Amino acid sequence: MSFEANGAGGDPAPRILVRRPGTAATLLIRGARLVDPRVGLDEVRDLVVREGRIAELAEPGGAPELEGAERVDAEGLLVVPAFVDPHVHFRVPGQEHKEDLETGTRSAAAGGYCAVIAMANTSPPIDSAAVLGSLRERAEREASIPIGFVASVTRGMAGSELTEMAELRDAGAIGFSDDGLPIANGRVLRRALQYQRLADGVVALHEEDPDLSAGGVMNEGEVSAVLGMAGVPGVSESTMIARDCSLALEEGARIHVQHLSARSSVEEIARAKTAGIAVTCEATPHHLTLTDEAVRSLDARFKMNPPLRTEDDRQALIDGIRDGTIDCIATDHAPHAAEEKEVPFEEAAWGVTGLETAFAALHTDLVLPGVLSLEVLVERMTCGGEPFGIAAPRIEAGAAANLALIDPELTWTVGEEGYESRSQNNCFGGRELTGRVLMTVADGRVAFRQRSFAMGVAR
Ligand SMILES: [Zn+2]
Ligand SMILES: [Zn+2]
Repeated sequence: MSFEANGAGGDPAPRILVRRPGTAATLLIRGARLVDPRVGLDEVRDLVVREGRIAELAEPGGAPELEGAERVDAEGLLVVPAFVDPHVHFRVPGQEHKEDLETGTRSAAAGGYCAVIAMANTSPPIDSAAVLGSLRERAEREASIPIGFVASVTRGMAGSELTEMAELRDAGAIGFSDDGLPIANGRVLRRALQYQRLADGVVALHEEDPDLSAGGVMNEGEVSAVLGMAGVPGVSESTMIARDCSLALEEGARIHVQHLSARSSVEEIARAKTAGIAVTCEATPHHLTLTDEAVRSLDARFKMNPPLRTEDDRQALIDGIRDGTIDCIATDHAPHAAEEKEVPFEEAAWGVTGLETAFAALHTDLVLPGVLSLEVLVERMTCGGEPFGIAAPRIEAGAAANLALIDPELTWTVGEEGYESRSQNNCFGGRELTGRVLMTVADGRVAFRQRSFAMGVAR
């Protein structure tokens, strides 16, 4: 199953996103506020989707009745291009008790996502064409939205020997990453970047100096001192970013820096971009909304890598999102079983889920207080595929329908009705958030409907 955006960037890799077949939607969405900053759209319109494609943006009340169409009365609701997440962990193969492709893509669709990119730190890791091939076949049966898979940069993610990058690219790898682990050896990364130039497909990097972060379980700072916990300093991240930007410049390669967390990292990226280095980067909803103050609770839902940092770091990330130094928002959705989190903080597994709460958390904490505009938030959430050659979805006639229908005023308590994800380690669990995805159309198919959202031809 192809994703039409593939062709837009001239990406030569065949059918790089996969999903299971489904029925193309025909919809008449009446009276919604349509917001797509990429095409300068912010108007109340009737939106007609015919057989999976956006057919028309009509004056409110102006769209003709469409035979067989599902009608959605959307007055007061928001329709935006659906989101693309460049960084999720779906635990397949090997840890399906935490998440699988079915629950993972459903969780994504529930958060308004029309495509996701899954990391390679599975068990075994995605380091051969055989593992990648069987995963892609599984996605053709189980994924409710298009999904792309990165392959690991090094065999077994051991950080020493490179995978067959060109072969993996031919087999459908959307890019390369050892995420979960840094590539500590500069010589190994340098060779990977030489191959990247030939194989294409970006190299996505989890930036961490293992010697600087060794033993740390949270951000190094005042809070870690008070709690008596070993810390991970921000420079553990930014020094590696500086190294890897230099290597990318030297090799004429393209890199994508994952989950920026520190002010010094944002500054390194800004410098690299000014110098013309081909680098893109992402930040997560949790780093944009929370700080290490949350760790005072000793709740392991606030343990992730990189760790939550200080308010000053958070402000730098927000500025980076606003001015475009940070290209896109990624959840780093990392499901874990309850028993891995219900242990002392120091021993708990790293990572949080986030697909179902990304928009609501950022809308509540940044858009509603006026810190970030809705347009910028939507733009940064829709363009997450671009570093990997996947064009951002758009609301315009003729485009494949990739839409999120959102009630911007609906307040809900996270986790109260459970999660679509198989895991519950969401760091916003129990919080009241405002703004909820009611329905998601992904690649022309209705991929998700909120249970409480009644609609349809009968309305
Ligand atoms: Zn990572
Ligand atoms: Zn990750």
